[in-house]
Amino acid sequence: MEETGSTKSIPELYGSLVFNDRVMKERLPKDVYRAVHQTIKNGTHLELDVANTVAAVMKNWAIEHGATHYTHWFQPMTGLTAEKHDSFISPTGDGGVVLDFSGKELVKGEPDASSFPSGGLRATFEARGYTAWDPSSPAFIKDGTLYIPTAFCSYGGEALDKKTPLLRSMEALSTEAVKVLHLLGIDEVSHVDTTVGSEQEYFLIDKDLYKERKDLLLCGRTLIGAPAPKGQEMEDHYFGVLKPKVSEYMHDLDTELWKLGVPAKTKHNEVAPSQHELAPVFETANVAVDHNQLTMEMMKKVADKHNYACLLHEKPFEGINGSGKHNNWSIITDTGVNLLDPGATPDQNMQFLVFLMAVITAVDEYADLLRCSVATAGNDHRLGANEAPPAIISIFVGDELAAVLKSIDDGTAFKGTGKTPMGMGAAVLPHIMRDTTDRNRTSPFAFTGNKFEFRMPGSALSVADPNIVLNTAVAEALSDIYDALKDVPKENFDAELKKLLKELLDEHKKVLFNGNGYTDEWVAEAEKRGLYNLKSLPEAMPHLISEKSVELFTKHKVFTRSELESRYEIFLENYSKTVHIESLTMQEMVRKDFISGLVSYEKALTEEMSGKKAVLPSAKCTVETDVLSTLDTEADAIDAALTKLGVDTKRAESDADVLHVAKYYHDTILADMDELRRHVDAAEALIPEAYLPYPTYGELLFSLR
Ligand code: ADP
Ligand code: MG
Repeated sequence: MEETGSTKSIPELYGSLVFNDRVMKERLPKDVYRAVHQTIKNGTHLELDVANTVAAVMKNWAIEHGATHYTHWFQPMTGLTAEKHDSFISPTGDGGVVLDFSGKELVKGEPDASSFPSGGLRATFEARGYTAWDPSSPAFIKDGTLYIPTAFCSYGGEALDKKTPLLRSMEALSTEAVKVLHLLGIDEVSHVDTTVGSEQEYFLIDKDLYKERKDLLLCGRTLIGAPAPKGQEMEDHYFGVLKPKVSEYMHDLDTELWKLGVPAKTKHNEVAPSQHELAPVFETANVAVDHNQLTMEMMKKVADKHNYACLLHEKPFEGINGSGKHNNWSIITDTGVNLLDPGATPDQNMQFLVFLMAVITAVDEYADLLRCSVATAGNDHRLGANEAPPAIISIFVGDELAAVLKSIDDGTAFKGTGKTPMGMGAAVLPHIMRDTTDRNRTSPFAFTGNKFEFRMPGSALSVADPNIVLNTAVAEALSDIYDALKDVPKENFDAELKKLLKELLDEHKKVLFNGNGYTDEWVAEAEKRGLYNLKSLPEAMPHLISEKSVELFTKHKVFTRSELESRYEIFLENYSKTVHIESLTMQEMVRKDFISGLVSYEKALTEEMSGKKAVLPSAKCTVETDVLSTLDTEADAIDAALTKLGVDTKRAESDADVLHVAKYYHDTILADMDELRRHVDAAEALIPEAYLPYPTYGELLFSLR
């Protein structure tokens, strides 16, 4: 992490380890630069001689910046990143070496793929996997290695990663959006990009305390733990003053990210104690996904340097907020227009209304797939908890747009709500104009001025998944709009377009909801409206391979049927494995760590009581007896629950059907774990810290300086 000194100014520092457009423009011959630029912009094929020149220039640049190795960097279906480093050395035959890097090595790699999840796509005897350079995401240097972002596929060309389908979905959206724009007479656009800004939440915990908890070490979340006397009820952490050491961490993190060209912008304390957030400036979806992966990696790495552990789990602590990753999403044309910008008069902005309606249609039509895209064992603990959006997908559009939509719906003229000055009651304050949309923190999918914010993704998720679904679903909605309008004669076009928008609104307005998404009334109302409420991953996953899903993804060439099926298997398997590891960890932690604390405290109490009675035969020992008897009752319950969890977990191993197994882990094992936890936490609340072999919630959450 030390390649660049910290004396540089931020503009000098920013992107200093990135082989970005500026570097290419400076160093590549003009014609080569133009060819690469074309490839990045339009996805055209890159000739080998061009690649050779780029590779040579890239290598020299990398060596100047201290690199000795290069790696193809890819994103297998684990949701993490993968890398294998090769040095640039090439022996000359006379005992020396030269540093070499060819176009072929830049463009293509062949990592042994047999140990990555493939969900049956690649039989294990066909170990070969291929990585292919993605020139649209810039290469960078980290720890003395040149990182080249790549896509990862099997010998047969099936996508084994998250980048390939994301790029395909961006292409699909671009194709359909351009068709619709041309229909609207906007002929100058030839390509659109999806833009993404993903706000990342995380917890910071003292590293030494972290190491003492097996559950945090192995599962990333606490499996037991009585609540601390203080939680987040005082609402004193959100946007609170940064603690000096935490602030130093954030500064270091920003610096490391800036060097890598990650546009880290906003940082603040979040709602829960020890919880924080980082938001970047938005970028093209593909680059934003890569940069979010780097952000998560750097958060952990920099934390380690500062003697912290960074927790990215969606629900590290029970009873306080979990962590999400808000996915801000929009579409921008190659002429620089944000298609979700309503402008001053949204009611007359047909282009905006068409794209708004396409998103509403897509989200309503494919809500189940959006739910699948954020389903993980960790995120299941968060969705529907009181700080996170419920598992029901609905859209918040705000008052002004609701009024615009209403005027479309009932055919009346739109009377603008208009921006009004906010009277803040003090003449010295500047006049601030009120935004057209207020914030609605409870909506899983909210229109926020000129973009949509999808709030269901969990903090550890690769944002590729939700964006693949979103892009493809909106592409499909646009494709339907195009088909409905493509043969309409010019003179009828406006009337037919308005009619179509009204029809779409009629059909899909059930997904619009501006109220409080956290209430029970909404759950009941959503059910009446026929909206999905898919509470867990096993419940959601069959939707991923439904005929409707297969049709959507194959039509837009984002997934083949077998690519979808492989993902279905991997998500389910991953879920079961996660819960399995949690169960084993919990059993070990309770059996070895917790019970030893419990019995040593019981022993101390008993010895204390007999000692007291020896001195004072009339002593009643009421307090000790009360505590001891409660502990004894809980100990019995713990023993029974622990035994049941052990037996049930063993039983899970014999089933072969992935969906069946995942359901079993959800229905039986998680329920067993809840029961065990209830008793452990009740007992823990009575045991002094000195007897517990692991730190408590109070220590974990409130010890940072
Ligand atoms: P919040 O109030 O939700 O915390 P922030 O300002 O912290 O809002 O984050 C908003 C995020 O949305 C930022 O990452 C920002 O870059 C991103 N964003 C803004 N405009 C767009 C856009 N057109 N497309 C995608 N993301 C955007
Ligand atoms: Mg947000």
